[in-house]
Amino acid sequence: MKNNPTNPLRQQDAQVLAQGYSRAIRLMDIGSIVIFVSLELALAYMLWGNSHVGPWLLLTAIILGYLAADFVSGFVHWMADTWGSSTMPVLGKAFVRPFREHHVDQKAITRHDFIETNGNNCAISIPVGIATLVMPHSSPTWVFLAAFLGSMIFWVMATNQFHKWSHQDEAGPLVGFLQRVHLILPPDHHRIHHTAPFNKYYCITVGWLNKPLSMIAFFPTMERIVTWATGMLPRQDDIGTEAAKAVLQTSEENVLMVQAAKVLLEGTEEPKSI
Ligand SMILES: [Zn+2]
Ligand SMILES: [Zn+2]
Repeated sequence: MKNNPTNPLRQQDAQVLAQGYSRAIRLMDIGSIVIFVSLELALAYMLWGNSHVGPWLLLTAIILGYLAADFVSGFVHWMADTWGSSTMPVLGKAFVRPFREHHVDQKAITRHDFIETNGNNCAISIPVGIATLVMPHSSPTWVFLAAFLGSMIFWVMATNQFHKWSHQDEAGPLVGFLQRVHLILPPDHHRIHHTAPFNKYYCITVGWLNKPLSMIAFFPTMERIVTWATGMLPRQDDIGTEAAKAVLQTSEENVLMVQAAKVLLEGTEEPKSI
């Protein structure tokens, strides 16, 4: 789907956003990847030979961890797309900037090397990685929790890689196959998010949760709650106050239209004979 070139949305200049990748962030990315890999290896070593570990526990932990990562990817992506600004100290440059840059220049992610692609997600996973090591591995419940969280952060780490592949023109036969059978994020599915005003299908690990979350209007509801509690306007920094207000109004009109359609349908379900 093409973006309308006359779209009134005011988006921040991609070049200004791209210049935010400083040497300090580069070093932070490298450090985060090294620490993350060490934590995952330490967890695998600790769980190896643990009497509570079995194939079913591991399989369940891996699949539920994948779903949890899909949710986390959607939630973090929604936060960075919707609130705050790329000029905020620390979080602005490291977390908000890549998401904002990505809407203006979708292909920029395909030019990022392994470190720039994966550093962020390793960084946010480090506290969870430490928790999986310090928790007791003394009962099946604790061992499951450690394996589940270890799996979740592994898939969180893989998220930007899967996302990057979904934007590549040629991603290789194995990646192409995994995308076609929807075991990782398919390009067609992810394109729905890249349609202005970029306010749905935030999950970018595999995207399995995008449809269910849309059906229950999860993110619009969260936005209403945040606006009600703080007075902040969703996407105000990214697309400007006027556009943000217009999007909010449109989504409210949509809700009203759906409600009106439901009332009409209910009225026509049992036609009364005259
Ligand atoms: Zn986005
Ligand atoms: Zn994307």
